[in-house]
Amino acid sequence: MPVGQEKIKLTLQDANLQLALYNGTGRLKDKRTVAVAPDVLPDYQELRDSANQLKRHTMENLDYYLQQVEANVVAHGGKVIFCKDGPEVADFVLGLAKERKASLIVKSKSMTTEEIDLNEKLEEHDLESVETDLGEYIIQLAHEKPYHIVAPALHMTRHQVADLFVKKLGVEREIVIEKQTMIARRVLREKFLAADIGITGANFVVADSGAVVIIENEGNARLTSSAPRIHIAVAGLEKLIPRAADLAVFLKLLGRSASGQPLSVYTSFLSGPRREGEQDGPEEFYLVLLDNGRTRLLADREKRESLFCIRCGACLNTCPVYRKIGGHSYPGVYSGPIGAIITPQYQGVSANPWLPFASSLCGACKDVCPVKIDIPRLLLDLRSEVIESQQSDVQSRMERLSFKVWSWVMRTPWAYEFGGIMAQSLMPLASIFGPLKAWVSQREAPEIAPKSFRKMWRERGRK
Ligand code: SF4
Repeated sequence: MPVGQEKIKLTLQDANLQLALYNGTGRLKDKRTVAVAPDVLPDYQELRDSANQLKRHTMENLDYYLQQVEANVVAHGGKVIFCKDGPEVADFVLGLAKERKASLIVKSKSMTTEEIDLNEKLEEHDLESVETDLGEYIIQLAHEKPYHIVAPALHMTRHQVADLFVKKLGVEREIVIEKQTMIARRVLREKFLAADIGITGANFVVADSGAVVIIENEGNARLTSSAPRIHIAVAGLEKLIPRAADLAVFLKLLGRSASGQPLSVYTSFLSGPRREGEQDGPEEFYLVLLDNGRTRLLADREKRESLFCIRCGACLNTCPVYRKIGGHSYPGVYSGPIGAIITPQYQGVSANPWLPFASSLCGACKDVCPVKIDIPRLLLDLRSEVIESQQSDVQSRMERLSFKVWSWVMRTPWAYEFGGIMAQSLMPLASIFGPLKAWVSQREAPEIAPKSFRKMWRERGRK
């Protein structure tokens, strides 16, 4: 699948996709605006401040909270597995599946497992791993990556889903969304009942109780974590929060920022396997804590703020760039403003040097972020890193030279005036052949005034 420039061009040329993107993100954006309005949530700004402080405190004391969470999970009969990267997570799951003779895994939506391509790695070893969130199930059938952090199939129409179900599930073509849901439900019920292992993500991991908190709307995460005999929760290290009481802050912000809901439909607190006398729950529970570049980020005081993210997706819905280029134009699974700051930090800035520049720096992302991450500042820091890493690059040398010339022109009145005259005569040609061609293909170039201000000033006899 193409990514980057090629995918951006394809997305911009696809009128249906543009409409789906604009409407899908617009709906989520509008719902959020209503849900956090001052008359609905008067303490919204105070909640954002608290969320930011709580995340900052947790990241600054992560070593302490990691030990605390491990002790509490073990006390409840579970195990904590620390993994450096994706292959270590896959090795753990594969090893456990082999030991327990498991052949089928059900999964609930988890960006962390998408980040490490867990499904693909398990399938390479003939272990069937089925996504059970409807959007995730659809994109798994389509062999695609999530298009959006909270709405993975945001880009697909019901007609495309109907065709996909016919092709992959051999069912009658059905375009009514509720009926499509019932088709998926019938298939997935069987999978839940037959699965040996359930893998979930975690929205929060609570240090003082060892509980994993999972927030969802469909109930599939609850089934994934309770129907199979083994439950594995995979979470990034940044998902820790100190106390269960802190959820009073985060739960008020997450649903509202993601989809405008005061609370998502299901909030599950899971701590350890089923205990004696309990009817439901798994026999074994494992909490996998993933690093995958997070500790490197943590060590950077300026940029560790990126780890505060609670994956609500609000910054995507408001971003003028994401709303045009869509989720599949970004490398990695995290798209939009949050993707533009964490992907380069996980993968290194030289892997995708254009990514921190995929922003207009309008600041809309910062305004809607429930944990107040200063995304524009982080983007600027990353841009500086990209430029530093390209010191010897020809394009970068040309860019520096252009800015030097620009700076000289701005300080030299006769050169500035001459530049104005040249721009006036060359503008029409530049928009046909030159660098402005692409720009004016989407919008109208402003007309250059027939007389410059300096000329008019002189004509009035002023010096
Ligand atoms: S950066 Fe902020 S707005 Fe964007 S997904 Fe993360 S928490 Fe939400």
